[in-house]
Amino acid sequence: MTDHQAELRKLWKRYCKASERWSEAWAAQGYTGEPPPRPPFPEELRGLCCGAKTRAGTPCKRRDLYASGRCKLHGGLSTGPRKTRTP
Ligand SMILES: [Zn+2]
Repeated sequence: MTDHQAELRKLWKRYCKASERWSEAWAAQGYTGEPPPRPPFPEELRGLCCGAKTRAGTPCKRRDLYASGRCKLHGGLSTGPRKTRTP
């Protein structure tokens, strides 16, 4: 992965954090009145794709990224609720 890609991924994570805070603020407001200003989507991130190496050896081109900066096939999706064993 190039340095440029790494920078973009960092930017992407920052953007995800910012929009998370935005939705929390909006929820805290009870979704009423004026919504707080949304964090702007960084133009550089347009077209950012997953970039993980596929089994074919080519970079993944999916664009449905999660906060981790990867698509759901490459570590983006949450692992779901933990199963707790009850005796
Ligand atoms: Zn992927």
